[in-house]
Amino acid sequence: MKHTVDKDQQVTDLVDANHILFDRAVLDAFGHVSMRDQNSPEHFLLARNMAPALVTRDDIQTFTLDAETDDARPMYLERFLHSEIYKANPSVMAVVHSHSTGVLPFSFTDRPLRAVSHMAGFLGVHTPVFEIRDVAGSGSDLLIRDATLGKHLASALKDAPVLLMRGHGSVAVGSTVQQAVFRAVFTEMNARVQAEGALLGETTYLTAEEGESAAISNASQIDRAWALWRLQARANTVTVSAT
Ligand code: MN
Repeated sequence: MKHTVDKDQQVTDLVDANHILFDRAVLDAFGHVSMRDQNSPEHFLLARNMAPALVTRDDIQTFTLDAETDDARPMYLERFLHSEIYKANPSVMAVVHSHSTGVLPFSFTDRPLRAVSHMAGFLGVHTPVFEIRDVAGSGSDLLIRDATLGKHLASALKDAPVLLMRGHGSVAVGSTVQQAVFRAVFTEMNARVQAEGALLGETTYLTAEEGESAAISNASQIDRAWALWRLQARANTVTVSAT
């Protein structure tokens, strides 16, 4: 018998992910997080067009891998970023898209984003950058507003955990929504300390092997971070809803 994942639990996790990512300053009014429906891999869940911190269970929409929904409420313009990543890589179960300001400078300078902290070992020695100008020319608004742009972005990501989008932001993916959130949070942390470290002196990066080993060790600790971040985000969300 096929194991059925509790749909209510998936929605709960996605709402928590929205609040955690705001609470951790990875998302602000903009950016979004989605998860593939574990019961129906040809669908994914994503909030309607709104600020992540304000998302409730009722705000979650269900999309096909062509980014279509029968929900009439306004959708995120960049839903194609999610749909094309899910279409291109069946092992991806969650996607975070962020404009966070620690990571952003690495998208538009020649300084590569690399693992300098063991907590971001998953970054390894190379983070790919998507240059939308190669596809959309020099006059685009930099948004992933259709399936063609989403396809090009997904092929730039390939099987990497994180992708930078030049002058725009980043994408973090995972095999669970908890892992995608963990990666998004520690990508932002790594970017900040990498930039701060560069002001102090010569940087020693993690080797590819150190990155892999650290990522394996940290993979078993994701629930520890999730439990703490969820507690803090839920406490802060009460304040947000009450005002
Ligand atoms: Mn965006």
